[in-house]
Amino acid sequence: MTAPTDMDTIKPQLIDRFGREVTYARLSVTDRCDLRCVYCMSEDMKFVPREQLLTLEEMTRIGNAFIALGVNKIRLTGGEPLTRRNIISVFQALGSQQDLKDLTITTNGTLLEKYARPLKDAGVTRINISLDTLRAERFKKITRNGKLEKTLTGIEAAINAGFKKVKLNAVIMHGYNDDEILDLVEFVRQRNMDISFIEEMPMGEIGDHDRSETYYSSDKLREFLQDHYKLTATTEQTGGPAKYYRFADNEQSRIGFISPHSHNFCDDCNRVRVTAEGMLLLCLGQQHSLDLRKVVRANPTDDEALKTAIIGAMKLKPKGHDFNLNEQPIIMRHMSATGG
Ligand code: SAM
Ligand code: SF4
Repeated sequence: MTAPTDMDTIKPQLIDRFGREVTYARLSVTDRCDLRCVYCMSEDMKFVPREQLLTLEEMTRIGNAFIALGVNKIRLTGGEPLTRRNIISVFQALGSQQDLKDLTITTNGTLLEKYARPLKDAGVTRINISLDTLRAERFKKITRNGKLEKTLTGIEAAINAGFKKVKLNAVIMHGYNDDEILDLVEFVRQRNMDISFIEEMPMGEIGDHDRSETYYSSDKLREFLQDHYKLTATTEQTGGPAKYYRFADNEQSRIGFISPHSHNFCDDCNRVRVTAEGMLLLCLGQQHSLDLRKVVRANPTDDEALKTAIIGAMKLKPKGHDFNLNEQPIIMRHMSATGG
């Protein structure tokens, strides 16, 4: 993957009814995971039967169709993407596409010790690793039995592999980990990493806590951090929904805030998602979708129908989402099935 010049960048062909250009696709490659984070999954999850999942070849075809339509950033996510057998082959196939500017992954890090180098070699540019606590007992509680050590080893492996950027994602929950905000920030500052704090979203039943009680807003978080650091807002973008701040005393690290509740990011949404079963989701917080698996399987050797279907789906993209923590989740899909 080489950086395209302005001359040979594909013009975005995915434009919705509100004039927004879609240039970013997130592909969920599995809804399964080796952890069970309390904000993401319930303890006993029903997963999609394997035969209903897109094959690796179908995923690659869909990724390539998006690139041909002007998508220049693709994130592979899940579930835990690195638990999908042979997933590196999809990274390799997409990473070899000249027109893809950014190939990224979101992972819980548990398998990065093995896969950080192969991911880098496949052309992955940036990597997001989810980590909500630095305390082993608490990690076990939040992930319902995960081992902190594995994620920490994975983070070191990612740093050593030399990605352009390694970023942490953390969901801060009142009463769970809100006393570790500064520890997490110091952890990234010491390693020249970025960190994004994500507001917990009401996606799927989790059977653990009442999300309206654990909600910790980005505004409150930022005010707290501003008591400890001199932060300056930037207009920097990494193609996603995070709003970034820089530290006065550290040029390498940034803090991002992903605020689906308090600062709804729909106006400049450039994203779509594809689930592991091949449903194209036009909005994180709404149901609008199109079955791409059907199109791919009906047209096994021809991608024109696939591209036409994706272009047609743009008219389904809604104006935005509106989460309400005091109601039952309107989105019954878990984040793990959606592709966070
Ligand atoms: N398993 C990988 C991981 O944890 O990084 C990738 C998939 S996970 C669904 C992607 C991101 O979504 C993680 O950073 C996780 O913290 C976040 N996430 C999961 N459920 C969430 C929720 N209900 N609200 C906000 N973020 C959530
Ligand atoms: Fe798994 Fe990621 Fe969901 Fe945690 S947030 S349960 S690691 S998919």
